Amino acid sequence: MSERVLNYIGGAWRTSQAGETLPVHNPATGQVIAETPLSPAQEVDEAVRQGQEAFQGWRRVPVTERVQHLFALKNLLEEHLELLARTITEECGKTYEESVGEMRRGIENVEVACGAPSLMQGWNNEDIARGIDEHMIRQPLGVVAAITPFNFPGMIPLWFLPYAVATGNCFILKPSEKVPRTAQLLFRLLEEAGFPPGVVQLVNGAADTVNALLDHPGVKAVSFVGSTPVARHVYQRATAHGKRAQCQGGAKNPVVIMPDADMEMATRIMADSAFGCAGQRCLAASVAITVGEARHPFTEAIADAAASRRVGYGLEPGVQMGAIITRQSEERIEGLIGQAEQEGATVLVDGRDKAPPGYEEGFWTFPTVLDNVDPRSVVARTEIFGPVLSLMHVETIEEAIQRVNQREYGNMACIFTSSGAAARRFRYEAEAGNIGINIGVAAPMAFFPFSGWKASFFGDLHAQDHHGIEFYTQTKVVVERWPREWSRKF
Ligand code: NAD
Repeated sequence: MSERVLNYIGGAWRTSQAGETLPVHNPATGQVIAETPLSPAQEVDEAVRQGQEAFQGWRRVPVTERVQHLFALKNLLEEHLELLARTITEECGKTYEESVGEMRRGIENVEVACGAPSLMQGWNNEDIARGIDEHMIRQPLGVVAAITPFNFPGMIPLWFLPYAVATGNCFILKPSEKVPRTAQLLFRLLEEAGFPPGVVQLVNGAADTVNALLDHPGVKAVSFVGSTPVARHVYQRATAHGKRAQCQGGAKNPVVIMPDADMEMATRIMADSAFGCAGQRCLAASVAITVGEARHPFTEAIADAAASRRVGYGLEPGVQMGAIITRQSEERIEGLIGQAEQEGATVLVDGRDKAPPGYEEGFWTFPTVLDNVDPRSVVARTEIFGPVLSLMHVETIEEAIQRVNQREYGNMACIFTSSGAAARRFRYEAEAGNIGINIGVAAPMAFFPFSGWKASFFGDLHAQDHHGIEFYTQTKVVVERWPREWSRKF
């Protein structure tokens, strides 16, 4: 029987009383490797109450002491990097190297949050009127929650947790039900890092567990990462209950290839962007828009790169692309490739109905390139979230920027060019929050905000760095008068 993952509530590992569980698969083999309990609202309530109790002590712990737990966590994450990466690959399907890369980006956030003593400072003015001073200080909110997706089970919880606890909040994670084992391991390390009971908690489940968090009056703020329809739902329901919310949604990222681009570099980087993590990345290049003479050399080169990419089990050496998260996702992706054909696109490289030898029970779609995709078609507008790159061709940079800005999403837009003027124009005019110039995955480092726009983000303050610190604190302004003559009493 596969292992049922546990909740971590009030500093103890607990078996959920949930009547229902969902199977967790190794996507490369198709085997069931764990079960996720669908924790009921009472267990969410218990975690919130434990968090509220812990908050009374935790907010009084000096920030310099709070971050010591994060320094300990950083070391534990480094020590257990291999095991974490293996666990991610086993349940998420990406390659081992991609899993290591993911953890590195997560660890960076722990490092940045260790700077909380400086990052959360307020400001002040002496003598805003004679003998009166004014200060702004930041105070934590209380119990906060994060709801995370399947595609970065190690990194995305760390976009939020370090900032939340460094600033004095108590944090509840509801990880994706598809990849709960990475969170189990992360919480073993959090336990070892010595956080007091109730400061960091883990509640497993799916939609109902999320809704219990959104409706609970004790949860003060909600961070979410996932698909746009759910991001919208979480934002609306959380804010309707008066909570702060930051909700990162889906994407359909366009990349412009100019005729003066270094074609060899552009192709290599684009193949990694479109097919890395099997395209299951919110910053994956999904649409390539060639300008003028870039069309033929780029089309030919990217088709070759797609056809020659080595697909297989991510724990095996030399594999460049892993599996798709579930059978349903595989069917959905391959259905969309079929729809593209019906909508008039040419399937230049067809990744359907394939599997690496020995892994026929796993979930696979191989790299796929669609040519001449109509910008009005369903496939051009839908987030495929698989290793499928759509090609479109225009004649001018104006048309290319127009294609970029026609889109519903605004997570990322990139350009490949050797012209500074074209790059500047693109940076200035493209309607997306993360811009890449000769870069294929413009993922902001932990000391910059992850700046999705349009239907890729609902809220004001993004994840990471100063935005994270602001999101998890409320400002208090103190105006004070201490008449000089009172000092003569002593
Ligand atoms: P998802 O929206 O299906 O699930 C995300 C989380 O929401 C999970 O924890 C899930 O349990 C919960 N959930 C699902 N349905 C719900 C519902 N009806 N009500 C309440 N909660 C619900 O997303 P996914 O498939 O796990 O992840 C892939 C998506 O995440 C893609 O759209 C991708 O673009 C997006 N993503 C975005 C970013 C970003 O930074 N913008 C980063 C990573 C992934």
